[in-house]
Amino acid sequence: MTALYEQRRDDAASAATGETLVEVRNLRTYYGGDGVFAAEPVKAVDGVSFEIERGETLGLVGESGCGKSTLGRTLMQLETATGGEVRYDGTDVTTLSGAELKEWRQNVQMVFQDPDSSLNDRMTVGEIVMEPLNVHDWRTPQERRQRVRELLETVGLSEEHYYRYPFQFSGGQRQRIGIARALALEPDFLVLDEPVSALDVSVQAKILNLLDDLQAEFGLTYLVIAHDLSVVEHICDRVAVMYLGNIMELGPTERLFDDPANPYTNALLSAIPTADPTAETDRMTLRGTPPSPRDPPEGCVFSTRCPMKIRPEKYADLDDDVWEGVEVFREVLRERADASASTTDRVKELLGVGGADTDVDEVVEDVFGDLDVPSEVSQHLDTAVEYVEQDDVEGAREHLREEFGSVCEREVPDDHVVDDTGRFSHCHRHRGEHDAPGEFLDSHGYDR
Ligand code: ADP
Ligand code: MG
Repeated sequence: MTALYEQRRDDAASAATGETLVEVRNLRTYYGGDGVFAAEPVKAVDGVSFEIERGETLGLVGESGCGKSTLGRTLMQLETATGGEVRYDGTDVTTLSGAELKEWRQNVQMVFQDPDSSLNDRMTVGEIVMEPLNVHDWRTPQERRQRVRELLETVGLSEEHYYRYPFQFSGGQRQRIGIARALALEPDFLVLDEPVSALDVSVQAKILNLLDDLQAEFGLTYLVIAHDLSVVEHICDRVAVMYLGNIMELGPTERLFDDPANPYTNALLSAIPTADPTAETDRMTLRGTPPSPRDPPEGCVFSTRCPMKIRPEKYADLDDDVWEGVEVFREVLRERADASASTTDRVKELLGVGGADTDVDEVVEDVFGDLDVPSEVSQHLDTAVEYVEQDDVEGAREHLREEFGSVCEREVPDDHVVDDTGRFSHCHRHRGEHDAPGEFLDSHGYDR
């Protein structure tokens, strides 16, 4: 963690009030798939539920493509929900339209990642910040001009910037313009989609401080989307971790970072470089790539890549390397089944095996060559190879799933409440009969 962020942590006191402002229930947002001959829809957000308190900052993290922006845009009603509810101050806003929707929109605003493309370079700063006031016919033109001057000052710019154009400003200043514009109509709730990702680290800290000050001054509620976990760690009260359209874990920032409950959170945190690269660590790494949101795995969405997947009883004592080999082999087959040649080659880079034109026998040799594979396992690998040789990759996958699959691939996990902070984790391992994720890490010698 950089010193700049370190400093922030002490200052950033929570402004949460305990009163629910935003309540999301089983929200789904799908793209496409609605024509008669249409392909499966992209399930960008696929059943998420959570609440945000008035005055709170909730972080939303996860790998690129997991649905963060879509979720943020659906909360703002910039995308139409496919199902579920978004309650804002008690009202289900997914049902609003026309004048009601326009009226409600004044309460909620979005700040975008890229201050370069989100500001119109043909408008002056004054015009950009005034635009929402014009759209909503806010008071008199004179009062609008006065309001814009105040807003510029509020975000640390000055009156003299009023007639300049965005291209005359640095990235950090441009983001201040975007924030001034978002504040124009005195909203209560801001969705900030990667607000500092495009900025230098020193500028990032200044913008984060500004956001913190504005929250204190105006009692704002934030949803902060970020892929950089250090940003989230230092400004958010709670964090939601997203994977393939689902929230895998949600809880108070410090608890979640210090002792992640969910295997996916654990894997994400393990990917952060440590300050001391020579430190002895045994990190949990993620293999392969997320599956397509058009065809998410059944059961737990993380099951195809989860390093802590529950094994069937009969393989509980199977050598860890052989088990891992079976998982890698299944991952190669999954990628072959749903990916184009180019992604299959990317998978080869990630997994080290199984490029598009590699013979399936060769893949098995690469994965299991040095291992002592018991016959109860190898007979099923042989069967799978036969399927693939008859061009039936799906058949091979099904066979392996029957044999090596577990509850993780058959049932959608509940959101299990893991501690008295209300933190929940979406994982079968929290059920009594299995080792919890933490116990798994300890017994397999991983760092926590
Ligand atoms: P993130 O912000 O986490 O990177 P997004 O919400 O942008 O993720 O995207 C989630 C998924 O939805 C991705 O697979 C993306 O390709 C897809 N997607 C996003 N916007 C659209 C759209 N307008 N039409 C079709 N698919 C989309
Ligand atoms: Mg995004």
